[in-house]
Amino acid sequence: MNTAVVVGAGPNGLAAAVTLAAAGMTVTVLEAAPTIGGGTRSGEAIVPGLLHDDCSAIHPMAVGSAFLTGLDLERYGLSWRWPEIDCVHPLDDGSAGVLHRSVEQTAAGLGRDGARWRALFDGPSASYDTLAQDITRPLLHIPAHPLTLARFGVPTVLPASALARVFRTEAARALFGGVAAHAFRPLHLPLTSAIGLGILTAGHRHGWAVAAGGSQAITAALAAKLADLGGTIETGVRVDSADQLPPADITMFDLAPTAVADILGDRLPSRISRALARFRYGPGAFKVDFAVDGPVPWTHPAAARAGTVHLGGDYAEIAATERAVNAGQMPQRPFVLVGQQYLADPARSVGDVHPLWSYAHVPHGYTGDATEAIIAQIERFAPGFRDRIVGYRTRSTTEMSCYNANYVGGDILTGAKDIRQLVFGPRVTLRPYALGTPGRYLCSAATPPGPGAHGMCGANAAEVALAALRARR
Ligand SMILES: Cc1cc2nc3c(=O)[nH]c(=O)nc-3n(C[C@H](O)[C@H](O)[C@H](O)COP(=O)(O)OP(=O)(O)OC[C@H]3O[C@@H](n4cnc5c(N)ncnc54)[C@H](O)[C@@H]3O)c2cc1C
Repeated sequence: MNTAVVVGAGPNGLAAAVTLAAAGMTVTVLEAAPTIGGGTRSGEAIVPGLLHDDCSAIHPMAVGSAFLTGLDLERYGLSWRWPEIDCVHPLDDGSAGVLHRSVEQTAAGLGRDGARWRALFDGPSASYDTLAQDITRPLLHIPAHPLTLARFGVPTVLPASALARVFRTEAARALFGGVAAHAFRPLHLPLTSAIGLGILTAGHRHGWAVAAGGSQAITAALAAKLADLGGTIETGVRVDSADQLPPADITMFDLAPTAVADILGDRLPSRISRALARFRYGPGAFKVDFAVDGPVPWTHPAAARAGTVHLGGDYAEIAATERAVNAGQMPQRPFVLVGQQYLADPARSVGDVHPLWSYAHVPHGYTGDATEAIIAQIERFAPGFRDRIVGYRTRSTTEMSCYNANYVGGDILTGAKDIRQLVFGPRVTLRPYALGTPGRYLCSAATPPGPGAHGMCGANAAEVALAALRARR
């Protein structure tokens, strides 16, 4: 029987492991941390019983993932919950951009911009499941559905700032801008619309879901599926050198590209080793989890019903803060994302004490403490919030990269989404998963289709590895 080793038990490592085990391979996963899951772990931290997502929380890309839905993970305990409202972007004048799963309902709330929102998202979201067959693969490929892809793809090449100008109301501009900012890029650059449009389109089709019982439920379901297929997982095994790797027909790395260059060293073709070592990382995230007594006292009522709240002021302010963090400067008022997963999944709370998830965009490797800046941004749109804080826990960019070595300098996307890395992946190639040495592949979020708990990077990489193994036989 063929054997496979997967290094790293994040969602992509587990997805690769499941795909390889389902193809009949004997699979071993090696994970550095004491617990599996990488960016999909949850746990108690502040108040006993209060459940926090350690990293990923909101899953518009995972809930409709062709890979995850194809595994029937409900059998292994994964179930999705949807908040009443997907996302709210409040503004200082008391108005807000309000994102519903329904394009129509969102458009209805955007007044003069309703027709434009509809024009942008109606078609692509209706055909999202078809579109996903193309956009969840390496970008450069022969499209399965060229017309659907072209219709979606044309606006993605625009800078987010150009697309934002299509809208006439500040609410629509900010709503779009806050989602575009998930790319952690200066929004005046080409292709910075792409990630925002992808998230918004997926969300209009499948909603901004959370996993019941925390994002750890995605991990637990994948691990249970793997166990059913005969795969094994060893935790507490940090792979730093190729000598630690057991012999295997296929070795998959759910790791940052620079880590793979370090581990494999001169066992890689030198041009590939050099390319991986040159891989670039983006700004960092500074995370604060709060225990909050009662609901957050949001000024805008829709924010009290939303799974996600984006705090960054109007479009111009978001664009300025994203530009600053990319230039290595910490803005006084950073872009902050707030998650209220407990609204959709109330079992995460303890009585009237609720877990609030937040992180701020900060410069790469930022060494300061952004806690006060995050609290101030929440206070700005929810006066009185500070008095409701029961306790909190922080994770700086350095602590983020200790928690998970893939988040270099606190970069939670596992790599800057600049034009080159967005289009090609970890290096300039049409084969982004290949490492140029037989049987070895990269499968982390640094590869297409990129970050998220959808497992598509791992599944795609494993399919490529299996095809190559069959061809070698
Ligand atoms: C704070 C935060 C918030 C986020 N929010 C969201 C969100 O709301 N929605 C969303 O879709 N995505 C979100 N993400 C991103 C998402 O979590 C990642 O894109 C996803 O987890 C990437 O999966 P992965 O399998 O590629 O890598 P990871 O999940 O990073 O897993 C990599 C695994 O490899 C292990 N590892 C690293 N080095 C070694 C080594 N040398 N040897 C052995 N094991 C090793 C790590 O411990 C880890 O378990 C967030 C991430 C963070 C950190």
